Amino acid sequence: MQQQLIELKPLLDSPKKIVITTHHKPDADALGSSLALARFLKKLKHEVQVIVPSDYPSFLDWMSGNDSVWIYNEGKEEQSALYIEAADIIFCLDFNALGRINELGALVGKSPAIKVLVDHHLEPQDFADISISDIKAAATGVLIYELIIGLNGRDLMDTYIAECIYAGIMTDTGSFRHSNTDKKVHQIIADLYSWNLDSSRVHRLIFDTNSEERLRLLGFCLSEKLVVLADCYTAFMYLSAEELKRFDARTGDTEGLVNYALSIDKVVLAAMIIEREDGVKISFRSKGDFNVNEFARTHFEGGGHKNASGGRSLKSLSETVRNFREIVSTYKEELLENLRKEKFL
Ligand code: 5GP
Ligand code: MN
Repeated sequence: MQQQLIELKPLLDSPKKIVITTHHKPDADALGSSLALARFLKKLKHEVQVIVPSDYPSFLDWMSGNDSVWIYNEGKEEQSALYIEAADIIFCLDFNALGRINELGALVGKSPAIKVLVDHHLEPQDFADISISDIKAAATGVLIYELIIGLNGRDLMDTYIAECIYAGIMTDTGSFRHSNTDKKVHQIIADLYSWNLDSSRVHRLIFDTNSEERLRLLGFCLSEKLVVLADCYTAFMYLSAEELKRFDARTGDTEGLVNYALSIDKVVLAAMIIEREDGVKISFRSKGDFNVNEFARTHFEGGGHKNASGGRSLKSLSETVRNFREIVSTYKEELLENLRKEKFL
């Protein structure tokens, strides 16, 4: 990151018009990183606008700066286009390809602004002028922390920035459970307490704010919609648009459900298949060395990380489910191999 910061630093020496954007349906790392960076840059006297492609879960609405976020497809199309066109710098956080920000991708692509990528997804597209892409980073929040510290910003850190960064690192590591959890993660978290971080509060705000409907939806998924393909070491759940409506599902309500499928003993690959307005969206999770980034890329026009990725299908829900089952059956041996490795190192 050293070299990139040398290039970035002089750009931030005088007040700039800055856009910060992040991926479709921002999660805690996407939004937390964006709002942490926005708050830091505002303290440096820049004019900053966070623009996201779509709405995000209500369990993120406590983050400092949430009220000023523009949600592109909720009436901010024109304003966003003008702002992006006139911007000096555009920070692209927590995504690796312009296609991940929907229509914003074209606007960002044609803007004369200097583009700065800060991301940890595999196989980043080459669209940025300054690229801080570290696939080993547990979260984009880690990189934002390092960027702020690297720009001598310790004195500008505060509780609000610390809790946004914490939220991203906590969720992207599955509450410090996933294999991306390492020494650096814990060292950064330890340092975040320097700014009076209340980590338990952040945890409660994100995980203990379920609606009753969301919990009922979870119950329905577990009792009615869980399919275990024991001979393929795979489990998945699927939901139709009608079922989402029946449970009054809001953005974010299906997040994390896939982990219940993955939590089953001897399951190496898990999927959550959901019928959305614009097609079928799939979340993949895996244990150990089974690479769901590659799996999503090869079969479902997606990508992400080795153990957590996503993709889509333009087939119907039932066709997608059938297709998924067929594909998985061709991975039987590989999945078994990974299970063996996982159990007996
Ligand atoms: P989730 O399943 O939680 O939506 O996503 C898991 C991970 O995969 C996240 O890091 C997310 O950014 C990434 N991801 C999800 N969907 C897609 C997709 O369609 N394309 C790519 N490239 N990455 C995705
Ligand atoms: Mn992330």
